[in-house]
Amino acid sequence: MTVPAVSFEFFPPQSLAASFRLWDTVQVLSPLKPRFVSVTYGAGGTTRDLTRDAVATLHGHSGLNVAAHLTCVNATREETMEIADGFAAAGVTELVALRGDPPKGAGAFAVHPGGFANSVELIAALSATGKFTIRVGAYPEKHPEAANAKADVDWLKRKIDAGAAEALTQFFFEPEHFLRFRDACAKAGITAPIVPGILPIENWKGVRRFAERCGTAVPVWLDEAFDKAIRDGREDLLATALCSEMCTTLIDEGVDSLHFYTMNKPELTRDVCHALGITPDMRLENVA
Ligand code: FAD
Repeated sequence: MTVPAVSFEFFPPQSLAASFRLWDTVQVLSPLKPRFVSVTYGAGGTTRDLTRDAVATLHGHSGLNVAAHLTCVNATREETMEIADGFAAAGVTELVALRGDPPKGAGAFAVHPGGFANSVELIAALSATGKFTIRVGAYPEKHPEAANAKADVDWLKRKIDAGAAEALTQFFFEPEHFLRFRDACAKAGITAPIVPGILPIENWKGVRRFAERCGTAVPVWLDEAFDKAIRDGREDLLATALCSEMCTTLIDEGVDSLHFYTMNKPELTRDVCHALGITPDMRLENVA
């Protein structure tokens, strides 16, 4: 089996204890030599400063290639571009450019007066600076706001054509969703890499609620499997086995890169990577 490249997504810590947890996560995962690690930007732009600080710390001290997420929400174009310029000035030239979601409970996305109207406008403006490598979000089971699956793929093409180099997908529980989506993207003329977003299931009840919000289908067998595993105290074992199996199927289907949503907890992601043959030793051998 080919050993894939990996990237890891973190969220910015909001307390001292959370900062230590993120740093521990980085220590555990960095020997796996990720292509990049990324730091999210809270819904509604709520973690603007925390994201900037976490990105600066990781960029300055982890030795990893760091990408900053950036959204259009709640900011003028000038403010958004100023944040992007700040990243570039600090040496961070990889961005995940998103429209973004409003803060919880604030209703649907609303264009900020003087702000970017959508992700395509943001990507085009970032691309025009010539400073950034831009990644974007993609939705194998379609974004909840998309009219239909084809419209969603057409919109992704517009994001790529506006200057994005790669798409990272929303998580999914069955590889067929990703594989069908990848085929649809190829058919629509998208040649940029589509990297599956992988969510190791740390807490089934929480993940299930999150999946409903994102429009990610939850198969009945998965619900039943976690019910049993939780009863037997084997949730982590099941999560590792299922995630490794799904990644193996994707790799067998030619996927050469995986993007892990770590939730700032390293154990499951590390165990899945090890099961896939991604180990510190393997990476060292590759370098030698
Ligand atoms: P878009 O792809 O621009 O829009 C979402 C969908 O709506 C499209 O797929 C399209 O079908 C439709 N659509 C939107 N505008 C139009 C239009 N004008 N015409 C036609 N169709 C349109 N959120 C955060 O707040 N912070 C983060 O750090 C963050 N990181 C993420 C990382 C990844 C990898 C992913 C997949 C998502 C992330 N999100 C994050 C969530 C994301 O912000 C939400 O899913 C948001 O609702 C959509 O953002 P987008 O850039 O993907 O939107």
